[in-house]
Amino acid sequence: MMSGEIRCPAGGHKFFVIGEVRGGQIHSVTYELTGKARELADTVEGSVTAILLCGRLTDPVEAVIGSGADRVMVVEHPALTLYNQEVETKVLAHILEGEEPEVILAGATTSGRTTLPALAAKLGTGLTADCTGLAMDPETGLLLQTRPAIGGNVMATIKTPVHRPQMATVRPRTFRAPETDILRKGEIVRPEIHSSLFESLVENLGFENAPEGEGNIQDMDVVVSGGKGLKRPESFRMLGELASLLGGGVGASRPAVEAKWLGYPHQVGLSGKVVAPKVYIAAGISGAVQHLAGMQTAGYIVAINRDPDAPIFRVADLGLCGDLFEIVPRLIERLKKEGVKA
Ligand SMILES: Cc1cc2nc3c(=O)[nH]c(=O)nc-3n(C[C@H](O)[C@H](O)[C@H](O)COP(=O)(O)OP(=O)(O)OC[C@H]3O[C@@H](n4cnc5c(N)ncnc54)[C@H](O)[C@@H]3O)c2cc1C
Repeated sequence: MMSGEIRCPAGGHKFFVIGEVRGGQIHSVTYELTGKARELADTVEGSVTAILLCGRLTDPVEAVIGSGADRVMVVEHPALTLYNQEVETKVLAHILEGEEPEVILAGATTSGRTTLPALAAKLGTGLTADCTGLAMDPETGLLLQTRPAIGGNVMATIKTPVHRPQMATVRPRTFRAPETDILRKGEIVRPEIHSSLFESLVENLGFENAPEGEGNIQDMDVVVSGGKGLKRPESFRMLGELASLLGGGVGASRPAVEAKWLGYPHQVGLSGKVVAPKVYIAAGISGAVQHLAGMQTAGYIVAINRDPDAPIFRVADLGLCGDLFEIVPRLIERLKKEGVKA
């Protein structure tokens, strides 16, 4: 472990991931993006550095190295305990000075969406917000930044040919975090930051977590979602029962949320949450692109729909074509009788 001096790993393009720490714990989007940055950097023999800014870190930094970073820069300071865009931007700009980053990635979380535009402006470059796909162009070596555009009706792929760095925020759960390689070696650096950079005009008065109801569906291994096909709010009770038998949570399409059948924290899709559970069950959901944007990286997708041409069947691993009001109660009955088998 080193401290003080900021050193660069040798060779190639430099990829940076602005990690996220909440309450001392490293947020999963940090691992997702470090893993993806590693994959991209390997195509151009590049290096990956993750930067963690926080009040105090309780999680092991080595896990970030294990997910693909060559180097992790950690800055711990009381001024970083509660999110402060002004301080984060100043500290990040200082760290990145002289590094010549080629690519900078951050989560499209509330803080990532706030800090990265300010950082991009400070660095004199552009930013592609809210990406749902990243790749390297094999011909030009440019970062291909894909995101929904025109109301989510098309997927646009954006390049940054002139300015550097190429910067993007990426929706959490867009990529799967890699398995942690505990044998992977990397460098942990604690850069020295002048105290003036921690000064701020903003006074943080406190922090309150938003109520999530019975749990955040982004953290669940199983999500059972319902759409307009459920016809009435009471039908969600049946989905709730199925979800609880499977140890999961309940999601919904946007029309179901707009009809107030379920609250907004349950909405899956472009304007809701991106979920990547092991199993995603979509009942009475047609499979519009805006819904797929929120669930297509799920491990195993089960679609229940009475329309054999419903687009959801194109992404489903298992399609059950029929009336959900017959199929879901039968699934519940069977699970009650036989239990969940691994
Ligand atoms: C900018 C923008 C953002 C958006 N963001 C989101 C978002 O975040 N999330 C989202 O979900 N949508 C979003 N949408 C809306 C999206 O385009 C679709 O309108 C929506 O996903 C459709 O919801 P649905 O599948 O529940 O309804 P429908 O498209 O009406 O589908 C209902 C389905 O239920 C089936 N069905 C009906 N009765 C039964 C039955 N008894 N048994 C079995 N199947 C049955 C039907 O065959 C049909 O396929 C967005 C749209 C825009 C323009």
